[in-house]
Formats: sequence, structure tokens, C-alpha cells
Amino acid sequence: TTATETRTFEADVSRLLHMMVHSVYSDRDIFLRELISNAADACEKLRFEAIGRPELLGDDPKPRITIAADPDKKQLVVEDNGIGMSRDEMAEALGTIARSGTRAFMERIESGKTGEDAQLIGQFGVGFYSAFMVADKVDVISRQAGSEEAWRWSSDGKGSFEIGPAALDEAPQRGTRVVLHLMEDAASYTESYQLERLVKSQSGHVPVPISLVEKPAAEARDIADGTALWVKPKSEIKPEEYTDFYRGIAGQYDEPAATIHFRAEGRQEYSVLAFVPGSRPFDLFDQDRKGHMKLYVRRVFITDDADLLPRYLRFVRGLVDSADLPLNVSREMIQESPLLAAIRKGITNRILGDLVKLAENDAQAYAKIWENFGVVLKEGLYEDYERREQLFKLARFRSTTSGEELHSLADYVSAMKEGQKAIFYMAGDDRGRLEASPQLEGFRAHGLEVLLLTDPVDSFWTTITPEFEGKPFRSVTQGAADLSDIPLLDDAAKPDTETSSEIATFLAFVKTVLGDAVSDVKPSDRLMESAVCLVAPEHGPDRQFERLLNAAGR
Ligand code: ADP
Ligand code: MG
Repeated sequence: TTATETRTFEADVSRLLHMMVHSVYSDRDIFLRELISNAADACEKLRFEAIGRPELLGDDPKPRITIAADPDKKQLVVEDNGIGMSRDEMAEALGTIARSGTRAFMERIESGKTGEDAQLIGQFGVGFYSAFMVADKVDVISRQAGSEEAWRWSSDGKGSFEIGPAALDEAPQRGTRVVLHLMEDAASYTESYQLERLVKSQSGHVPVPISLVEKPAAEARDIADGTALWVKPKSEIKPEEYTDFYRGIAGQYDEPAATIHFRAEGRQEYSVLAFVPGSRPFDLFDQDRKGHMKLYVRRVFITDDADLLPRYLRFVRGLVDSADLPLNVSREMIQESPLLAAIRKGITNRILGDLVKLAENDAQAYAKIWENFGVVLKEGLYEDYERREQLFKLARFRSTTSGEELHSLADYVSAMKEGQKAIFYMAGDDRGRLEASPQLEGFRAHGLEVLLLTDPVDSFWTTITPEFEGKPFRSVTQGAADLSDIPLLDDAAKPDTETSSEIATFLAFVKTVLGDAVSDVKPSDRLMESAVCLVAPEHGPDRQFERLLNAAGR
């Protein structure tokens, strides 16, 4: 149809808009960042499409974003000359189909931490709706690159929107114009110094130039030049510039915990700018474990779907800009490219290497990273055999002797007792319960440190019989705990040694009583005060892993 029609927002979108206006009120500034980020995305999509179809650019090849204010009418316009939207795309993207992050975002808001959550909006793919925090009506007029038609979407954000044709002379020649009819108390968003300040602080490094038109008929003035931050030499970049860029690319509003910026030269040439976030992104534990590195080729955005890092580094945010990949390959072909495999290897090693260095030089800063992402990094211990050494260097643990500190495996090894051959651990759900376990009595009495592993992932990497510096990992709940080579801390605490025939008679008695309920009954050094405990067989899953398998119905 070509007539104007009224359509209702999908229920989730309606609720989201209601919340946006009524509860996420604390930091409205971010609406501008979100609209600029959409405009920049649209320009980058066009740049990519135009590789194969240069005619899409027509006589207007340079991407640009224009912000225009009209203080008298209390209107603010954000316009781009990017890819634009068709009627269907507009209806879908702006209201009828709730995006995957909509629910997740609302749950975060409902959980109460509102101030922070307005900041996080970009992460959830619902950024556009933040326009309704400052506007009581929004018009979007768009003309798709190469199209002879233009469309207008219009809404007051209260349940429905209108969509219909727009006259070509009211529409941008190409791209999208978003017109905000500002609320009374948001009129200051038409002040030029305010707009300039916001653009510079929030969007100074989007890779598209931004200009400002202060009032109707004024001339456009450049306020951000669109130079890609990652091509600048490190020495010329200020920490605030990195933070600003990180916030834009990650949709997070915290400080990055680590910044990794380098240029690889030699057989492959590429630049990398990557960040470890200061807090956990909301989708960290999504089933698909999707990565978040964007791929550029000579400053042209190609895709954010290329697997540029292993899954266990999915918390890293950033981009790779390759000088060697061909611009005109399809996204699918890029995935298969041996060049990409080499890049993947290069950046994975570099990121792990930088983390190892950080762990050595600034243990405190590294500890924060481990608290947030250690549980993800540990997936690498069983997924990435080649880099297990590196990952073991990064791993930190709580143990029976660590208190609240984190111990590395090097710490563990240097504290090993004479005669101790293995790295002992106990896995379970809860640290307090582990610490109270009778299975630890004997180890404590011998002064042995036992790692307390409380993440489900621990049961997986420990079952692949890893070794660290030649020392095997051993579960204290598994097999015979032969501690006889290791001296007791306090010899007086040694339990009375019964003669072996008495022990044998007693074990035979217990075995008869328990029958098929147990596979064996054995004497052990692992107990001091308690009389008995359950252990798993020498080979096979330990007690915690057995529980996990049972819970999974196997
Ligand atoms: P996200 O940017 O994370 O996809 P948004 O809520 O910000 O989520 O935007 C929703 C969608 O609306 C975008 O994915 C895009 O398809 C469309 N869109 C928004 N603004 C523009 C624009 N200026 N040009 C083209 N498409 C746009
Ligand atoms: Mg967006």
C-alpha cells in the first residue's frame, strides 16, 4: 500500500517506551549519542553496499551527519546521507518487531538500577527509542539509497505510529532525517554549545564527520572530523579519547578495564583497537556466546559477525581494520579466508599476552578483570588446548589458604609441601560448604592448600586431566588420598594407627552392610576428626562433576 496507515507498537515496545519516559529519566543526554550512532551505522552500511554498487553513491559520495537546531520551534534534527530505510524496514525496525534486547533491557530497568541503565541502552539494540526521553513527537523521514520513494514514520511514543509516503522534496536526497519535537523541559537541547559539548564528549570518534547547523538558514559548521581513532598513533591519543571511543563501540558507559591498541606489520597488516570492559556486559552468558569484534577493511566497516576471537574472549569489545582483505568479498567468504585465520591467531595471542603482562604489572587491576571475566576465560582451558599454558598463567583461584585474595597457580606451586606431587582442588557450588567439608580435614592437617572451585565450568576443564608445570590436578573427593609422604603439621594430631588386620576386618564389615550402595570402602589419610566421607572412584568424574551430570539427566 502507498497510503498512510496507523499501526500499533508491539506490546514489548509499548512497555519499553512507557518506561523510557517515566523511569529512565536520569540521563537524557544519551539520546543524541544513540541517534548519531544509528546515523553513523547507516553511513557505514552504505559505504559497504557501494563497494559492489558504486552508483548508490550518486553525486554525494562523502558520508556525513548533520545536526540542525531550531530553538524557536524547539526542534532538533539528526540527519545522515547513509543507506536509508524502505517502508517495511522502517515499520519493522521502529516499532512492530521487538528486538531481541528489548526484554533484557526492561528486566534491567525493573531490577532498579535506573541511572546506570539509561547508559546501557545502546547495548540492547533499543537506542532509537531513547528519542522519546526528550521528544513528545518524533518524525523519521527516510529515502533508501537508489530508491525513487521516500517514507515518513511518525509517533508520539504512546502506543502507535503512522507510516506513509513522503514527498521527495521534503525528504533527504538519500538517507534518514530524524526530527525531534522537544518537550518543554528539553528545549536546551537546541543550544549550540550544549550540542557541541555532547557531540564532542559522546560521539567525537564516530568514523563519519559531524556538522552542526545552529539555527535555520545558518551555515553548517564541522564539530567532529570523523577520523578513525585507531589509525592515529598511540602517543597522540588521550585516555579520555579511548574511553569515549570505547563507550561508543561497546554501548557501555563505564571505564574500560584494559585498552589494547596495536598495529601489526609484516606478512599481514592490520590495526586492532580492543577493550576489556569495566563491568560485565548483559549478554555475557547468552547461549550463542557471540563475539563483539567488528571487522573493517581499510576503514570500511564490513561486519560484526566475523569470528575474530575465540568464544572465551567474547567479553572483549573493539575492532580490527585489515589492510589486506579484499573489500569486495562477501561476508560469508571472509569467514573462510586464511587471512582472517591469521588475524584471529595474531589478535588472540596479543590480547592474552597483554593480559598476562597486566597481571604481572598491576595485580589489582587484573584481579578486577578476573572477577568479571575469569569464569569465561576458564572456558578456554578446555576449548583451546594450544593456549592452555597462557590461560593457566591468567587463572586465579580462591583456596583453603587464600582468604579473600586470589592465588595464581605459580603461587600455589611455590607453596607446595615437600612430597606433594599434585595440585589439589575441590569443586562445588558454594565456597562455604566446600570449606566445611570433612574431605579437607586431612589436607589441612598436612598444611596442604586446596583450590576451591565454585564455577560450573571448573568441572569441565579439570576433567581433561590438565597439568601445570608438570603437576597434575587432583580432586580431593576422588580416589585414595595418599598423603603419607607428606609430613603432618602437628604430629600429635595423627590418629591412632590400628593394625592393618583390624582395619581390614572393619572395612569388610562396612562393605557387607552397605552392599551395592557403594563400589568400595577404603582407608584414607584425608580424614582427621570425621569417621567417613564419600569419594568418587580414582578414574572418572569427581563428586561435583557427577552431580552436574545427574542434574543434566545423564
Ligand atoms: P540498533 O542501532 O542497536 O540496531 P536502534 O534502536 O538504535 O538499535 O535502531 C534500530 C534500527 O532502526 C536499526 O538497526 C536500523 O535498522 C534502524 N535505523 C535507526 N536509525 C537509522 C538511520 N539513521 N538510518 C537507517 N536505519 C536506521
Ligand atoms: Mg542504535
